[in-house]
Amino acid sequence: MNVQCAICDKIEDIDVNSQLAKKLINRRISSYLCQPCYDRITERTQQRHGTGKFNLYSSTNKKCDK
Ligand SMILES: [Zn+2]
Repeated sequence: MNVQCAICDKIEDIDVNSQLAKKLINRRISSYLCQPCYDRITERTQQRHGTGKFNLYSSTNKKCDK
């Protein structure tokens, strides 16, 4: 079945029997993301996690400096 990426509007043909296709048909997920867009979002989420960890480290270091 043809699905359109919600971010870059690229149309991809996915296996209609795949879990993703079933989720789209049942509207458990409203939008499809192609692999590059999905990867980009995952990367951004991981970067945010990394920043959070960094802040935690720097506040711990300040405590150690005292
Ligand atoms: Zn895309």
